Amino acid sequence: MKTIAAISTAPGTSGIGIIRMSGSDCFNILNKIFKPKSGKINPKGYTIQYGVIVNPMDNSTVDEVLVSYFEAPKSYTAENMCEINSHGNLIISKKILELCIASGAELAEPGEFTKRAFLNGRIDLSQAEAVADIINSKTELETETAEKQLEGYLSKKIREIRKEGISLMSDIEASIDYPEYDVEEVSRRKLIEVLEKIDEQLKELECSFERGKLLKDGIKTVIIGKPNAGKSSLLNALLKEDRAIVTEFAGTTRDTIEEFINIDGILLKIIDTAGIRETDNEIEKIGIEKTKKIAKEADLIIAIFDGSKALEDEDKKIIEIAKEKTSIIVINKQDIVEPNEGIINMLSFGKPVVKISALEQQGIDCLYKEISKLFEADKIKNDSFYMITNIRHKKLIENARKNILQARKTVDDKMPIDIVSIQIKEALENLGKITGETTSEEIIKDIFSKFCLGK
Ligand code: GDP
Repeated sequence: MKTIAAISTAPGTSGIGIIRMSGSDCFNILNKIFKPKSGKINPKGYTIQYGVIVNPMDNSTVDEVLVSYFEAPKSYTAENMCEINSHGNLIISKKILELCIASGAELAEPGEFTKRAFLNGRIDLSQAEAVADIINSKTELETETAEKQLEGYLSKKIREIRKEGISLMSDIEASIDYPEYDVEEVSRRKLIEVLEKIDEQLKELECSFERGKLLKDGIKTVIIGKPNAGKSSLLNALLKEDRAIVTEFAGTTRDTIEEFINIDGILLKIIDTAGIRETDNEIEKIGIEKTKKIAKEADLIIAIFDGSKALEDEDKKIIEIAKEKTSIIVINKQDIVEPNEGIINMLSFGKPVVKISALEQQGIDCLYKEISKLFEADKIKNDSFYMITNIRHKKLIENARKNILQARKTVDDKMPIDIVSIQIKEALENLGKITGETTSEEIIKDIFSKFCLGK
């Protein structure tokens, strides 16, 4: 394979910048542009040499650098690799990259280093995808889950399930090849048993996706309430905490802003509808229809009521919306009036109720606790080992489950046993696509194209 090169550090000013090369020719290419202080390059794996990068055209010095060596197969890509550590200035990094290219390397495509690690068999496809997840993760918990995937926990689980399927297929084939042993009845009973076991495991993985998705994308949260209930004060109170990790950026529609808040590792993605933080009265008048529409998409609704006033018609509409969803009822302005049992009962309708003062930032911790409880934060943390966070994996597991259920039906319907074998084979193929054993070239290309440069 051709030798590839790329800048692996983020563009901008930093302490150091790293230019990476991988491929059988990388030490030869390096030799043309690197002059070690000790005189000669000595590319021994896991060693570092100090020296300068020079332009071979005029022998001018480009930068003072440290070069680390990794020898195949013990490297990130499983090929010969080197990393040039220069000063962290993009002009210098680019210049060094240009010299690598001029000396025979090719510019790496996004994710090409990781793709080589996969193609060379060092990691499987789900592990490669975990690398991208680690780089892009926004919370500690999300990072932990991706690290587990990189360590191979998911791949191991998938391999275990596949092994059971393969063993079942060989039993079926044996009974087809040696019908004289009359193993038919026993096989059918065993078939059902194993198919059910496989389905159970797949179902567990499939269910982990919903939790995994919340972990990855954040719990889509909408604050609803009539004008002056305290929506914007609550949002401000939430954002004032240290946990607000991402400040606003424009959402997909002109008037939606998304903000992220990290609650003990669980990410809340607050959808600020029509700029509830705006004070402009025109904007505050978002209609109930629009609120309904936005609330429909939410994973969590925080319905806020002004506890210092009697409930009005608008509050009743808010109650109707909140009833339909996973929601928390917040009674605000506790500092003016302590809400009485009557109003609490009227508002609770089976949902958790929290009393707060958004203005004085009281009760916000109780609100966090309720959110944590509602989404079983502890459970999410515990099953991060086998959590599916990737939509591609989810679809493949869904497909494999369909195949297994079809196989089960075939057995129930007393159809020929070789049809079952075909259906199990399809399930195994779907599972193999997760780890990359049966994935098409096109899909692999698509997966790696979403990586960042230099990884
Ligand atoms: P929104 O229209 O629902 O976004 O409501 P705002 O957050 O803009 O609040 C409306 C008014 O109520 C403002 O004057 C706030 O200062 C006031 N307010 C909000 N929360 C509280 C609270 O907890 N206590 C008191 N006393 N006033 C509050």
